[in-house]
Formats: sequence, C-alpha cells, structure tokens
Amino acid sequence: MVLHPLPAFADNYIWCLHNGEEALVVDPGEDRGVLDWLGREGLSLRTILITHHHPDHTAGVAALREATGAEVIGPAREVLPEPVRRVAGGDRVQALGQDFEVIDVPGHTAGHIAYFLPASAGAPPLLFCGDTLFSGGCGRLFEGTPHQMLASLRRLASLPDDTQVCCTHEYTLANLAFARAVEPDNPDLAEYLVHCRELRERNFPTLPSSIGLEKRVNPFLRSAEPAIVRAVAGHTGVEPADPVAAFAALREWKNVYR
Ligand code: ZN
Ligand code: FE
Repeated sequence: MVLHPLPAFADNYIWCLHNGEEALVVDPGEDRGVLDWLGREGLSLRTILITHHHPDHTAGVAALREATGAEVIGPAREVLPEPVRRVAGGDRVQALGQDFEVIDVPGHTAGHIAYFLPASAGAPPLLFCGDTLFSGGCGRLFEGTPHQMLASLRRLASLPDDTQVCCTHEYTLANLAFARAVEPDNPDLAEYLVHCRELRERNFPTLPSSIGLEKRVNPFLRSAEPAIVRAVAGHTGVEPADPVAAFAALREWKNVYR
C-alpha cells in the first residue's frame, strides 16, 4: 500500500492510499487534482472516506463519485452530499482489502469521525483524523465542547506510538510557534521545529506525523503536564480547576495567539 498526500487549496491535504490499481481518498475538498492524479498513476478510485462535513473536506465528493463510481463513506451524524454509507464509532470499513476501524472524535464538529487502520505485514498503523488532531495542534471547537475534544484527543493518543497521523492541514509550523510559547523548555519540540522548517523550506509536507511524536511535542496532548498547566495559569491569571479547564484555556489561548 502506498500513502500519498495530494495538496489542495492553500494548506489542505487529500490523503490517498492505493495498491497500484485501486485507490481510496480521504476528505476530497476538490475533484480536479484527484482526477488528474488518478489518471497519471493509472488508478481507479474505489472509496471516498469523509471525516466531517466542512466544504474543504467534501466539496469534491459529488464530482468524484460521478466520475468514478466510488463508494462514499461518512459520519452518521453530519449533513453530507447523499448518497453516503453512514458509519459511527466501533464500525468497521472494508476498503482496498483493508479493515479500518471508525473512531468517534467529536469536538471540531459534533459528528466528526476518524479512520484507523491497524498495523499489517510490517506497515505501521494509519490514522486519518481530519481536523481533530494536527501536528503540534488540534482543530478549533466549532461545534463540540472542550470536554468532548479532550476525550477525542485522549482516545487518539491511546493508539500505538508508531501510528502514522494523516491530518488534513499543513498547519504544523504555526502550531509549533504556539507550542514553543507554551512550552519553551521542551527539547523534543525545539528539535522537531528545526526538522519541520527544513521540510517546509523545500516545500515538503511535515506529515504524516506519529502518535509517539505528538505525545512529546503537541501541547493539546500534553495539557495536563505541570509545565503546561503553569503556562496556562500564567497566561490567564487563573489556576485551571481541572484538566478540562486547562485544555479549554489552552485552546482559547491558541485562538488569539499571533
Ligand atoms: Zn474542518
Ligand atoms: Fe479543514
């Protein structure tokens, strides 16, 4: 299986997985780039996976289905261009002969889901997590609560360390700038920032990341760490009452960080 991020818009990736003949794509916000790529690689599109309803993840779905006849699979509780096979946490999705597990990850949107493919035949596990977990950051809370998002991120953090994290946006450098402001003494973070700057200077993706790496550098997976709780308290002037309050304050700090 080959994993390939197709850039779209200013900073989206449409993740593609293929076996040399058949392909699946995740969150196609546009169709033209996907169709060109399928043509160049000589692949037929069999499956479209959707993580949530935002247009930058779904606007290419109808045209791609029309052009290829691909099956569309998406979250049970979101408004999407029909027909969609609806799935929810605990469901399994078969695509390209692989068995994906659906995980509910509400927070960015109310019905957001992620797709997890366990390790097989020496290949590491894969996670397609949409706008829930980013490298060095997390999605904004448009529809969910801090409590929901923290639970969703903890669920993703419980996946194996070598899980390849395929998120939808190249937000890594901006996320790491904020992470450095929150946790200036984290040596893993300093090292990762240098690495990501080098990649972006050559216009390479910083993704996929991994769960193990994100647990070391991503403040939103580290919001209960004493250093981060102290930073949040210093920023707001209030000691957070519990982990959800610390996470919520961290997310609000990021919303206004420049
Ligand atoms: Zn979104
Ligand atoms: Fe998005």
